[in-house]
Amino acid sequence: MSTSNIQIIPISQSKIDTVDFNNLVFGTVFTDYMFECDYKDGKWQTPVIKPYGEISMAPSARVFHYGQAVFEGMKAYKDENDDVFLFRPDENFKRINKSSARLAIPEFPENYFFDGLKQLLNLDKDWIKKGIGNSMYIRPFVIATQPAISASPANEYKFMIILSPAQAYYAGEVRVVFAEQYSRAADGGVGFAKAAGNYAAQFYPTKLAHEQGFQQIIWTDANSHEYLEEAGTMNIFFRVGDTLLTAPNNDRILDGITRKSLIQLAEDNNIKVEIRRVTVAEIKEAARKGELKEIFGSGTATVVNPIIGFSHGGESFDLPKIENSYALFFKEKLMNIQYNISEDPHGWRLKI
Ligand SMILES: *Cc1c(COP(=O)(O)O)cnc(C)c1O
Repeated sequence: MSTSNIQIIPISQSKIDTVDFNNLVFGTVFTDYMFECDYKDGKWQTPVIKPYGEISMAPSARVFHYGQAVFEGMKAYKDENDDVFLFRPDENFKRINKSSARLAIPEFPENYFFDGLKQLLNLDKDWIKKGIGNSMYIRPFVIATQPAISASPANEYKFMIILSPAQAYYAGEVRVVFAEQYSRAADGGVGFAKAAGNYAAQFYPTKLAHEQGFQQIIWTDANSHEYLEEAGTMNIFFRVGDTLLTAPNNDRILDGITRKSLIQLAEDNNIKVEIRRVTVAEIKEAARKGELKEIFGSGTATVVNPIIGFSHGGESFDLPKIENSYALFFKEKLMNIQYNISEDPHGWRLKI
């Protein structure tokens, strides 16, 4: 891969001493540096890494009016020898360009993405703390900056990467409701993309769910609300007996990297996975018969997130407390790979 002559504007003084790394609130603290690259005159210009700070844009910038914006979520991990690793970053790179293509945003060059990530993480490496659970959350994103409010794709964009140190995150007990009225995504839409608007559209129904005592909504297909698809920021797995069920990817479901890694780990460990449409009716039936053993979400932020119960059609179900949970098994297996504790048979780690 060629290097890309990224310009670096140094900070005058690090902010690191002002941060309490034992009391981080997710996504609120940012490192010393950020990566920025503008698209104009038909091409991506020379990227720059500079002190983290505010950016200025015209109020007419298209992102504010039409939501032409996509993002990614990834993490860097530090092992006991202070080496830093990314987990399957090639997948994030492919996905942000897939998301961009769907929103008519020009694709970002591979060497800029990887050189930018590596140089940024090197500059901010003291912000990545050792120890299981500690990580650096990485947020690449692209926004339409052209100052013109006509409803068409912009001809100017900004690609940025910002870094936020994260601690192990305990979501508390998560109880979910299966969607019966609202939908997250529809056929032919943008559900498969990490498009900013997908998340804004979930806030209101999720707020209603919170008021009823649910932490999350499990979205169902928009046509019939009979098939279980995914959670708002996580893919979803059901364990019926000793078999795992998860929905196949389609244009409504985000193709999660954690999801595909868990499917591979399940195969490696002789756990049966069925990738097929999962009905609300079969999950309720399995719960009634005591065959539904676990439900869990998968995503970069929490890795695996166990769910303790669900509601649908006015009925509530509690999941049993079980020994040898798949959720915890997968969480440990995956984190051991991410933190360079175990072998990496599939070549998922990238050392920085
Ligand atoms: C990001 C995201 C996921 C999880 O993807 P990972 O690559 O595993 O982090 C799942 N669903 C939605 C809607 C998402 O935005």
